[in-house]
Amino acid sequence: MRCDLAVVGSGIIGLAHAVAAVRRGLTVRIVDRNVLPRGASVRNFGMVWPIGQPRGDLRSLAIRSAELWGELSVEAGFRCTKTGSLHVAYHDDEWATLQEYCDRAGHAEGLELWSPGDCASRAPGTVGEGLLGGLFSPVERSVDPPVAVAAIQGWLRAQGCSIHAPEVAVEVGPGFVRTASGLRIEAEQVAVCSGADFETLAPELFGEEWTKCRLQMMSTVPHPGFELGPMRAAGLTLIHYRSFESCPSLARVRARVERDLGAHVAHGVHVLVAQHADGSLVLGDSHEYGQEFDPYHRDDVDDLILGYLRTFFDLPERSIARRWTGVYPVRKGWTDGRFTFPIADRVEAVNGVGGMGMTLSFGLGERHVARWFGGA
Ligand SMILES: Cc1cc2nc3c(=O)[nH]c(=O)nc-3n(C[C@H](O)[C@H](O)[C@H](O)COP(=O)(O)OP(=O)(O)OC[C@H]3O[C@@H](n4cnc5c(N)ncnc54)[C@H](O)[C@@H]3O)c2cc1C
Repeated sequence: MRCDLAVVGSGIIGLAHAVAAVRRGLTVRIVDRNVLPRGASVRNFGMVWPIGQPRGDLRSLAIRSAELWGELSVEAGFRCTKTGSLHVAYHDDEWATLQEYCDRAGHAEGLELWSPGDCASRAPGTVGEGLLGGLFSPVERSVDPPVAVAAIQGWLRAQGCSIHAPEVAVEVGPGFVRTASGLRIEAEQVAVCSGADFETLAPELFGEEWTKCRLQMMSTVPHPGFELGPMRAAGLTLIHYRSFESCPSLARVRARVERDLGAHVAHGVHVLVAQHADGSLVLGDSHEYGQEFDPYHRDDVDDLILGYLRTFFDLPERSIARRWTGVYPVRKGWTDGRFTFPIADRVEAVNGVGGMGMTLSFGLGERHVARWFGGA
């Protein structure tokens, strides 16, 4: 069985590389151990979130990726709403950070500082008491991950891409993939997009510098009449993403949070809100690091998430309908911007996207496929 590009993993990273290759008229085969992916790509918020990326190459890549999400959503027929995002501030240090961030090139990026009145009228659910203002960014998009992933698979099949599932890849080598059932795929290029599965293929690649992160998530019952508008974040998120690192006031936010919200810091809690097509609100998350995780969901961590949520967002209906966890790989001390790692001749792992895989996926796919097959 031959093709131009063989992809292990039909999470969003594998799919994005397959889409980029198919768009160039290349033949693509994907293998995944599950018919519908069950990994991080169907367990996330569905936030395509360029505002979380530091200005420069990663921000540009994220913005390009968001555009590609938008184009594909029209062709493949899934929701990808350009809701934008709103970070809200209730402390002077948070508000100063948002202002500093906006002052640096914010106008060119379409950023807006919203007054409490703007937030009340344009961002339903925002807690008014103590609100100092918000930073609105227009480029973030919201998708329903399981729906989007299934639709992208369908679109790829319609373009002639083969998805072999359930099939477990047990070996990769120069220009080939072999599966447990004996399938052998020969390819000009192999992309191993296996997410948090370090153990099956090329375990030697994932040494000391790699770890995993487990997150707790929740979603509410549907709110058919409620329109969230921009996806929401608050002060804790300012210290979670690297984008705000250049703001002088961030040190004051960090010091206060470490002093007053020690339990949140210990469990890596910062709180985001998205809304899916059925009207449910998706809430999270926490961050626990290690190679293996306790099987149990922690109510105390969910309480930290919900407690912080109530400081900036009034849930119209408080009943939580679903709780789940997700795991993604993390490359510790990641600073070099690398997302590909050679395994063998014409075989590369694409990994290390951490909590930004939905955001960067299509930009990375386009970039890597151009490098592998030539052209712009
Ligand atoms: C709770 C949570 C919330 C998040 N929220 C966001 C968000 O809002 N925005 C954002 O940008 N990012 C978010 N992320 C990060 C994002 O979800 C991940 O970065 C992204 O999904 C990683 O995609 P992936 O394709 O690398 O991995 P996965 O989705 O895990 O896919 C890997 C696939 O490889 C398959 N596989 C592995 N090994 C083999 C093998 N040997 N043979 C066959 N198949 C194999 C698996 O079955 C799986 O389908 C979040 C992550 C989590 C966990």
